[in-house]
Amino acid sequence: MSRNKKSSRWGEGLLPGLAVLMVLLGAGRAEAILTPNAQHDFSERIMDVASWAVDGFAPIEVQARRRTSVRMLAKRFGSPADEIRRLNGLGKGDEPERGTMLLLIPRRHPRHERHHVHLAHLGETFESVAWAYKVCVDDLVSWNWRVDARRLKVGTALRIHRERRRCDRRSGHLDYWTRLGSGPGYRVRTPSRAWGTKTLIHTLRRALVSTHQAYPDAPRLQVGDISHNHGGPIARHLSHRVGRDVDVGYYIKTPIGTDDHDITWRFQVATPETLEPEKTWHLISELLQSGKIKVILMDYELQGALYRYALSQGVSERRLRWIFQYPKGYGTGGMLQHYPGHADHFHVRVRCQPDEEDDCEEDSE
Ligand SMILES: [Zn+2]
Repeated sequence: MSRNKKSSRWGEGLLPGLAVLMVLLGAGRAEAILTPNAQHDFSERIMDVASWAVDGFAPIEVQARRRTSVRMLAKRFGSPADEIRRLNGLGKGDEPERGTMLLLIPRRHPRHERHHVHLAHLGETFESVAWAYKVCVDDLVSWNWRVDARRLKVGTALRIHRERRRCDRRSGHLDYWTRLGSGPGYRVRTPSRAWGTKTLIHTLRRALVSTHQAYPDAPRLQVGDISHNHGGPIARHLSHRVGRDVDVGYYIKTPIGTDDHDITWRFQVATPETLEPEKTWHLISELLQSGKIKVILMDYELQGALYRYALSQGVSERRLRWIFQYPKGYGTGGMLQHYPGHADHFHVRVRCQPDEEDDCEEDSE
């Protein structure tokens, strides 16, 4: 079928950019523009004039609305009025009837730059699309508020207003959120819940990798929830809303089910007897040395096991006092704080960083 051949040639050749566009010009007074690739039932006319493309502009069809006039179309699309009349069999002084499909060869697309449509492909996230178009993730989310940002599906059409200013740090978050992927020595349990601020992700990743380098044979550590992309409420947690919290498992002596394919892999309760203090201490001290940590929530008894190990390694008493509540007692000061429910994982929170002040908010544990 020659008709199909022609239409696919348009899609690939003349104006690839235009081919992905389904442009809707504003509301009310504007026309709906259908492009050759929009899987519309085009009339034979448009197929016939495929070869008429002018300066790389492919013909398009426009549906006339109530007040559409030839002059208006000529102005909007930069095509000569005579040409529009000739293509559509309109005599001098005739105006198109409402609802008729008009053929024209636009020399410009006045507004298509504003409403570009991007079709999501495999592996894309709001963040990566925003990055590609140099727009803010927040803006992208608001232009596409019907789309669930956490579950971007392949083929989802995302609207992108291309005339928007570039994203800056204060309004942006473009530099602010990132996702932790599984890496050497650790596994991320739920990738969709592994979004956090760059400060948290970088600090955590550095500490995990350093621990893996020191103990390459250690079983892979499990990293639990951080946040959804751009935060917000998250099931089973009071915090984890702002990308600055993460749950991490303990190194224990007899871990079970650390296989990647084991879906039952869960945090396992550690006791002072089963905890691997050496590896856990390495990880905790790497985190603390970053200077980015606000607090780490850890069971008091497990603090005791770590404390005894750190003491045996010659850590100064002053530093021990700064780090541990143990043996000062529950409720005392320390970077490690006892909190119920933290015997099978510890919870790390990073502080607000100076460059995040505007965005950074404290929420309660
Ligand atoms: Zn937590």
